[in-house]
Amino acid sequence: MKRIHFTFSLIMTVLVLTGCFSSKENVAITPTDPFKSTDKVTLNYRKTKKRDWQYPLEGGKVISPFGGKRPNHKGTDLKSKANDEVKAAFGGLVTYSGVMSGYGNVVFVQHPNGLETRYAHNSMNLVKKGDKVKAGDVLALEGKTGNATTEHVHFETLIGGHAFDSELLFDHKHHKLRKVKLQAKKRKGVVRVKAK
Ligand SMILES: [Zn+2]
Repeated sequence: MKRIHFTFSLIMTVLVLTGCFSSKENVAITPTDPFKSTDKVTLNYRKTKKRDWQYPLEGGKVISPFGGKRPNHKGTDLKSKANDEVKAAFGGLVTYSGVMSGYGNVVFVQHPNGLETRYAHNSMNLVKKGDKVKAGDVLALEGKTGNATTEHVHFETLIGGHAFDSELLFDHKHHKLRKVKLQAKKRKGVVRVKAK
């Protein structure tokens, strides 16, 4: 029995040392699905206090909107200067920080109300999976990694894994959070989001 235990321990040690378990490092934490037991989700931003939100890229200008000429464009592209700070729009949990095809260096943040935000093409990520962040915490630096031709932040807002136009939530021209209620409805696997 002792020998079996020793062999097992030895195998485990070798596996850990050779990094067999480190591949799990970059797998995203699965966010809780707000549509798990309902087909209608409301996120209320009408009373969000100033300290509880942050425009993700101070000095950022929209260079490519959600959808627009690129129907599959699932985010809003914001541009300022290379290596400017990319900040968490709201508080939450970092569910992914690493490299992903197309996105380059990308950070995913899950917020407690069911919203998810993503920040892509970073020159460098400064948080790691499992970190708790507050609104305004620096997540990364602006870059052009992945599928990007110029330094910018590809900013995505999602509910239940479905991206919607962040302009519904942020006034990108004035860098302000809109005082809205977002209503998301899921029908036949498709999520539609409206702001009221
Ligand atoms: Zn983009």
